[in-house]
Amino acid sequence: MNKSDLKVPPGKISINRRVDVLVIGAGMAGLPATAALPKAGRRPVVFDKGRGVGGRMATRRIGGATFDHGAQFVTARDPRFAEVLDQARAAGAAVEWCRGFASEADGHPRWRGQPGMSSLAKHLAAGLAIVQETQVVALRRMEDQWMAGMADGETWSAGSVI
Ligand SMILES: Cc1cc2nc3c(=O)[nH]c(=O)nc-3n(C[C@H](O)[C@H](O)[C@H](O)COP(=O)(O)OP(=O)(O)OC[C@H]3O[C@@H](n4cnc5c(N)ncnc54)[C@H](O)[C@@H]3O)c2cc1C
Repeated sequence: MNKSDLKVPPGKISINRRVDVLVIGAGMAGLPATAALPKAGRRPVVFDKGRGVGGRMATRRIGGATFDHGAQFVTARDPRFAEVLDQARAAGAAVEWCRGFASEADGHPRWRGQPGMSSLAKHLAAGLAIVQETQVVALRRMEDQWMAGMADGETWSAGSVI
């Protein structure tokens, strides 16, 4: 393998490691997808460039105030995601907030993290293999596998990528 193919930063050490499924991003999309994969016999590893999990499910604190500065709630239109949220509710990481807003109340439940959206993210991330502070900067299909170049100069190979 030619390192220049992966466009890794020059001068970095390249260590090739292999994962079954490489998931990019520990957000609302990546976390439930990763949690579902072992049931299908796959062994996923999530890579996220951030220091925490959740992506735009993010709770911040300023002084004594805590607020969600991304998604304030989620809904479940798919029974599989409804099951994920039901497990989060049972674990105390999510609560039903409302069923719509004022004149636009439609009876469909809106769920929020308890106490904030990052709690839901942490619940979804529990038990998953997550590599944090690692940005995927290049992806290349090579024969029967994917090669992922990371910002730190490492390369990882994977059978599948999400
Ligand atoms: C202000 C605001 C309010 C919102 N309100 C709502 C709401 O009320 N209800 C609702 O349902 N939705 C809401 N949304 C939308 C919702 O937040 C997003 O649709 C959802 O969080 C997207 O999830 P995601 O996993 O696709 O992406 P993200 O949450 O963005 O997660 C992507 C993750 O991937 C990581 N990442 C990205 N690129 C790389 C890379 N190259 N290498 C490694 N890691 C990488 C990021 O660090 C991040 O953690 C809101 C969004 C905003 C900004």
